Amino acid sequence: MSENTTVRTFRFRLYPTKPQQAALSETLRLTRTLYNAGLEQRREAYRKYGKTLSAYDQQKELAALKEACPEFGSVYAHVLQDVFDRLDKAYKAFFHRVKRGAKQAGFPRFKSAQRWSSFKFKQCWNNSKNDWTTCGRPVDGGRRISIPKIGNVKVKFHRPLEGKPKSLQIVLDCGQWFAVYTCEVPRQTLPATGSAVGVDVGTTWFAITSDGEFVENPRHLERAFKKLRVQQRTMSRRKKGGNRRRKAVQQVAKTYRKIRRQRQDFQHKLAHKLVKEHDLIAHEDLKVSNMVRSNLARRIADVSWSSFFEVLRGKAESAGRVVIAVDPRHTSQMCCKCGHICRGNRVSQSRFVCVQCGHAENADVNAAKNILGRAVPSGVNGEGLPCAVV
Ligand SMILES: [Zn+2]
Repeated sequence: MSENTTVRTFRFRLYPTKPQQAALSETLRLTRTLYNAGLEQRREAYRKYGKTLSAYDQQKELAALKEACPEFGSVYAHVLQDVFDRLDKAYKAFFHRVKRGAKQAGFPRFKSAQRWSSFKFKQCWNNSKNDWTTCGRPVDGGRRISIPKIGNVKVKFHRPLEGKPKSLQIVLDCGQWFAVYTCEVPRQTLPATGSAVGVDVGTTWFAITSDGEFVENPRHLERAFKKLRVQQRTMSRRKKGGNRRRKAVQQVAKTYRKIRRQRQDFQHKLAHKLVKEHDLIAHEDLKVSNMVRSNLARRIADVSWSSFFEVLRGKAESAGRVVIAVDPRHTSQMCCKCGHICRGNRVSQSRFVCVQCGHAENADVNAAKNILGRAVPSGVNGEGLPCAVV
């Protein structure tokens, strides 16, 4: 990938016929079987011979596997290879967590059917021909896409694909099938705005900016959570193995999906706004703040903040903006005017009055200004716009 491009994903609903559905499900089953067998093989190899197998080692055995178990011949070769790449990633993530000293490193697990919902074609584009391969190529005037070994599956392209398609993932989500394309798109750098902002995250407000903007926690999520609780109660009342139970489980899964989508939507919109308006965005480094404050509400909110920051970084990167994570220690007790740090500065949860210089401000905005000030030390304690640095 060149420096002027970035990666984006595009997700489209698929409408497979009954036989295509069966073939897709069978591919899921076979790839999951392969993943679990591959995991077992790696564990064995390590336990017995102290040997660490690589994806490449395992991919070399695929030909022999197809000979012994002809059913794997019904799955496209790249899809099978990708299973071992995924296993490799799971191992690498595990070792990374161990190295970082995580309390629960979580060894790669065997996948149950519930935890295995996708497979991947790793090459959609033939660079030398500068054309699609047979994987994911739109056919039939864009009404279907070609999926090797499955057929031409009906698709709804609700928006145009952009850039050069790299890979295609087929995903089963709450009983619906989706085609997820990963594309290389040209970076669209936004014009400079000369503005920088500090963002403080909280539990009362989702975010507070150094410009004095308060972003509410998404309310619709709370409504969805209420609905979820009712559905979960219904589910647990119903008899296991029954048809009514199965339907209730599906309802719960659908609500979860809705929550996930709403949260993503909220995060994308907020990130988009920040990236559009500012050249530089500073936020607290959650790795550091976790060591300082660790109450439960914060831990839970942390999950959505870190995924928000990830979205923000992605958007900033493709727009040519800068995102900086700063050490948040004492940002809530420090005066953004004179830099005096004192517990007494915090008169109440929301009010900040400096005991030294008398500067008074909303406590969260003061903290956000400090966050900005740390990202751009040359700025006048977060007050002036430090455009020169950007
Ligand atoms: Zn002060």
